[in-house]
Amino acid sequence: MRPMSRTIKAICALVMVAAAAPAVFAAGCGGSGEPSARENLDKVLASDIKPNEMGMVMVLEYHRIQEKESDYTRSIENFKKDLETLYKKGYRLVTFHDMMAGKIDVPAGTTPVVFSFDDTTEGQFRYIKDGSKLAIDPDCAVGMMEAFYKKHKDFGYTALFNYLPAMFEQEKYIEQKVDYLWNHGFEFGNHTVSHPSLGRISDAEVVEEIAVPVKDMKEIDPRVKVDILCLPHGSVPQNQNLMYEGTYEGTAYKNRWALLVGSNPFYPAYHYRNPGKLVPRIQVMDYDPEDGSGASGSDYWLRYFDRHPELRFISDGDPSTICAPAYMETRLLADELPGGVSFVGY
Ligand SMILES: [Zn+2]
Repeated sequence: MRPMSRTIKAICALVMVAAAAPAVFAAGCGGSGEPSARENLDKVLASDIKPNEMGMVMVLEYHRIQEKESDYTRSIENFKKDLETLYKKGYRLVTFHDMMAGKIDVPAGTTPVVFSFDDTTEGQFRYIKDGSKLAIDPDCAVGMMEAFYKKHKDFGYTALFNYLPAMFEQEKYIEQKVDYLWNHGFEFGNHTVSHPSLGRISDAEVVEEIAVPVKDMKEIDPRVKVDILCLPHGSVPQNQNLMYEGTYEGTAYKNRWALLVGSNPFYPAYHYRNPGKLVPRIQVMDYDPEDGSGASGSDYWLRYFDRHPELRFISDGDPSTICAPAYMETRLLADELPGGVSFVGY
């Protein structure tokens, strides 16, 4: 028995050396002493975080922000609560563009989320007079987000504003607001001129509805790039191509995505079950398990991910890797990964 057991030990030793070799080689690759992707992952796993960057994400959707909660209106109090709840549950704000590109830079163990605001109403961004100066109303969405960000820098400070011509309803501050938002890394989406159901109007009208806001934005601030269409009432035009490309009276538009109104999370662009260019969102509203109201809204989905954490996107903290249990690699569309980003399984 003795010789046999020695042989087994020898084989084991050989296997261990062979297994260890690639790891040693990889760790030495950086040269500059930078930890390899695998070392990062091991650290994250050792701290009891199970990254799953093949999991689902959410684009949340707000409309009016006002004193009292009602349909399509989030109360000021509830908006503040949303910020706290999302932060505590480990959600972190990212831009829509970064989310869709798979360029996710949030701390290990957290989940990226996008805020979108439709209709650019005043409660979303209001200026008030503060003595001789202008100040952001602390009770508008931007004001509340800014205050929250000052306390919790890691939560992030960004959102997507899907604009209508009234643009926050304080006409004299339009340029100033767009300037502020653009300088602070916020994004804009085209929400058409008159908010029609695009599925019910002619092709020519669809093109005009989408092109005119692009021209308007160029006049307000030529730096602002608009390549997102937010569909009023979630209504898709009969000719779907018109959502993405068209020209009206010399103004051409090109949209990379069209946003729906409801009502589910989705897989990232590099996952084989990604939503493509037509992106679902989730309305922010409370869920009542007793009567089932709000069952398609954010509160419902937050509870859903609490119960099914394995379906939720969990970051590894390293934007250069997509980290997930190794078996998920079969679900990966490697061509959709941003440059320099690779899959690391565990
Ligand atoms: Zn709208």
